[in-house]
Amino acid sequence: MKSNWQHNTRSTLKGANSCNDFFQSDQFKDQHFPIKIPLEFANLIDKNNPGDPLLKQVVPFNNVQNQAEFSLSPLGDEGNAPVAGLIHKYPNRVLLITSRVCAIHCQYCFRQNFDYSGHDAISNWSAIEDYIRGNQSIDEVILSGGDPLSLSDEKLQSLIQKIERIAHIKNLRIHSRSAVVTPSRITDKLIGMLNNTKLNVVIVLHTNHANELSNEFANAIQKLAKITLLNQSVLLKGVNDSVSVLSDLSLRLFDLGILPYYLHMLDKVSGAEHFLISDERAIQLHQSLKKNLSGYLVPKLVRDENLASKTWV
Ligand code: SF4
Repeated sequence: MKSNWQHNTRSTLKGANSCNDFFQSDQFKDQHFPIKIPLEFANLIDKNNPGDPLLKQVVPFNNVQNQAEFSLSPLGDEGNAPVAGLIHKYPNRVLLITSRVCAIHCQYCFRQNFDYSGHDAISNWSAIEDYIRGNQSIDEVILSGGDPLSLSDEKLQSLIQKIERIAHIKNLRIHSRSAVVTPSRITDKLIGMLNNTKLNVVIVLHTNHANELSNEFANAIQKLAKITLLNQSVLLKGVNDSVSVLSDLSLRLFDLGILPYYLHMLDKVSGAEHFLISDERAIQLHQSLKKNLSGYLVPKLVRDENLASKTWV
């Protein structure tokens, strides 16, 4: 039997026509990165506000400026994959591509053109296990995607159990936006498996604006209070490029037991040019945040150099 979140996954706006109907607008146009918005997220959008910060993240921009430094694959993810589905950059940790599916399609996503066909950690587990067992310095596995919470609870549990059996793995990190945009994904079974694994679990959520943090999410995330919860955001022009919006986000996250972790500079993927903020403006915003907030509420301002490497801005 399908659980609630799987039914909700089907309650998703897909394509320009259904979005234009829902928002009574004509601004959605189909393009190469298909439009996908879960109703749980769509219902948080103010239909009367064309500048709504949540809406801006999911509307394709139809006036691409073709800036030279933007490209289809800005991070060149595949370069650090010694085994299909596994990225290994730093000695102590590896990242697994566990799913090609996301609950939402964010129009600034740097992986929107990623070729997932050759990178499926689930089907290639045997080779991945051999690789990890052969590298005793690895103590952390990061589940990424797409979104690892797009996997069913059964598949996720099976994967976690396989990772648990590798004696030198101590820490499990899960990167997810689904938990925020479809809070129904935080099922009792998921909570149980994450609370009961012998691994130290860290969940890195992806939230860009306090309006994304619904009451449903607040209720669900309380059940994961035993787990270390962090958040990463992308700095997006017109969505969260103000001190007040970023401060509100940090304070609301902290209310929910989540620490702001990273504030990412935009990855320069074609089609996302309109979200770009200059380094100077980003640094200015970050410095103002430091003045406004306690240090533990100020996320690190970073830029991805590739899938597993960051530099401070
Ligand atoms: S949820 Fe993450 S991986 Fe999926 S489209 Fe959004 S930014 Fe990209």
